[in-house]
Amino acid sequence: MINLLNFTLRELTDWMRTELCEPLFRAVQVWQWLWQKTARDFASMSNISKDCRARLAERAYIGWPETVLIRKSQDGTTKFLLRLHDGALVESVLIPSDARDGMRRWTQCLSSQVGCAMGCTFCATGQAGFERNMDMAEILGQILVARAHLGDTRPDRPTLRNLVFMGMGEPLLNLDEVMRSLAALNSTQGLGFSPRRITVSTCGIQKGLAALGESGLAYLAVSLHAPNQTLRARLMPKAARWPLDELLAALKTYPLKTRERITLEYLLMRNVNDTPEHARKLARIVGDVKGKLNLIAYNPITGASYEAPDKARVLAFEQCLWKRHITAVFRRSKGQDIEAACGQLRAFCY
Ligand code: SF4
Repeated sequence: MINLLNFTLRELTDWMRTELCEPLFRAVQVWQWLWQKTARDFASMSNISKDCRARLAERAYIGWPETVLIRKSQDGTTKFLLRLHDGALVESVLIPSDARDGMRRWTQCLSSQVGCAMGCTFCATGQAGFERNMDMAEILGQILVARAHLGDTRPDRPTLRNLVFMGMGEPLLNLDEVMRSLAALNSTQGLGFSPRRITVSTCGIQKGLAALGESGLAYLAVSLHAPNQTLRARLMPKAARWPLDELLAALKTYPLKTRERITLEYLLMRNVNDTPEHARKLARIVGDVKGKLNLIAYNPITGASYEAPDKARVLAFEQCLWKRHITAVFRRSKGQDIEAACGQLRAFCY
């Protein structure tokens, strides 16, 4: 049996033509049921003939991730623990933004792998190790779960506005499925997320970075976390195998659309990478990159020896960058009380 959520629109069209002798418009109708009307079974597809629905049900199913647990933070951040078809557990997080026009908007942080092989020393996911890649149905299934939770069923007025591939895993190490997911997300007959509403966050994987840039399917965020190679190798040992100067050189030539900028993530850890000297060095190395810096305060996790930076240090760090004409914004992490903030996802401790 085939999980229909694993098909792009083109694949679904081909499959329905060859397996069911159905025309293109029928595949589009099914696709809309899957992604816009969040159908969970064929019976609800009221504009598809009974016969076609029966033939679909004989060969395929609609497999969403199973919601095991939902935890809600005091600030509204909502974390889902999801079980995949083989029992693997992942987490996905909904982050609220301020309500405008009486309507609250949300950003979803998506996982792309079960665990992560990169072993960044400050990250809960990295400490738990790598299990497997997620497929497209599992990656995009997180969005279906979130939309159903939010009652977000009006494509003309979506409340889930932005997606960030910043949950569990390194998305560019699961390149094929992530690229297929991005292509499916762009379909206006499906979920309809334009590239400027999607950010793929990576610690810098050479091959994947080039492929993502060529595709133009999402904006790019890169985790730096250190202003020099030695410190970066200590914090992100595997990511640093691609030397920092080469990564920065690649970012300088990364293809960008008008007004698009690369987000450079920098996680501040007390007395590790948060001194004025670190800020000055950081300003020097990112000066030529068309980007903006996101400063994030480290969120403590069990088993790691790092501490959150103090407020004065964070402020001084930010000011030092601004003085050198680097756009830097301190981004307050949400959902710390439910371990849903950056670097805190692990899913294995349940
Ligand atoms: Fe993996 Fe990202 Fe955690 Fe590094 S920070 S271990 S790349 S999930």
